Amino acid sequence: MSPQTPTIPIATIAPRSTSDVPTAKLIELFSAIQGEGANCGTRQIFLRFAFCDLRCHYCDSAHTWTAPETCAIEATPGQRDFEIQANPVTLDRLLDWIDRQNRPRLHDSISITGGEPLLHATFLKTLLPQLKQRTGLPIYLETGGHRPELLDGLLEHLDTIGMDVKLPSSSGEQRWSAHAAFLRRCVASSTEGSGPQVFVKTIISAATTDDEIAQIGAMVSTIDPQIAVFLQPVTPLATDLRDRNQALRSDLYQHQLAPTPQQVLDWQTQLKQHLNDVRVIPQTHKMLGQL
Ligand code: SF4
Repeated sequence: MSPQTPTIPIATIAPRSTSDVPTAKLIELFSAIQGEGANCGTRQIFLRFAFCDLRCHYCDSAHTWTAPETCAIEATPGQRDFEIQANPVTLDRLLDWIDRQNRPRLHDSISITGGEPLLHATFLKTLLPQLKQRTGLPIYLETGGHRPELLDGLLEHLDTIGMDVKLPSSSGEQRWSAHAAFLRRCVASSTEGSGPQVFVKTIISAATTDDEIAQIGAMVSTIDPQIAVFLQPVTPLATDLRDRNQALRSDLYQHQLAPTPQQVLDWQTQLKQHLNDVRVIPQTHKMLGQL
């Protein structure tokens, strides 16, 4: 865990009890191409919630860590013609904005992302069934996978979950036991026939170790070796690391450096000894220059 990892009381994020109108604090709503994991390359409506209780070194969404006074709502799918709306937003307004995005034959699914979207679990319990009913689109949850207790009442409304495994080397976070509990809950619910498909993704860097990769392999193979694992070489942050040699000399930047091709090959080989589906996909949304 990062020393600055904040504690965010769920009560401050949950819909306000002073009124019966469910509300949530959003960052943005827009249409884009998913750049990561099993849905990579598909078109999604992205619903990005405010707040995160982790502080990953490689985070490209630090603007989500707190809630802004306003959120950005795309008026036309993919046109980046954002309207600025006040936070928090009501459920009805959010559903109207999603209806506006939901053009025929355009989107493959809806991405519930953040920040850490599960910090809005109470709101999601109301939102997700209505979202499914109104759009007919599958719902994908992208999560840090460290809050298994917040899955209650949500799994039956989700179609896919992309669960991050936070490696200490690249993220500065360490959540192994929570990740294992999270995966177990998803697999149990899927086995009962009412839950989503889950896959694991993890950011790897030059600082990632063989032991960490072994720990992923042991955790996933113990729970279900059919779970797909996506290794994602880190995309260096804007801090300019074009001089790889200089960065290599500095321990400070190792976690921001992409792994070498040999490291990636070795880690995929290592994981494939235990798991059936191990893929390497760079963060393609960053290659495309997308949000
Ligand atoms: S979980 Fe996601 S949003 Fe939160 S700090 Fe990590 S990368 Fe950033």
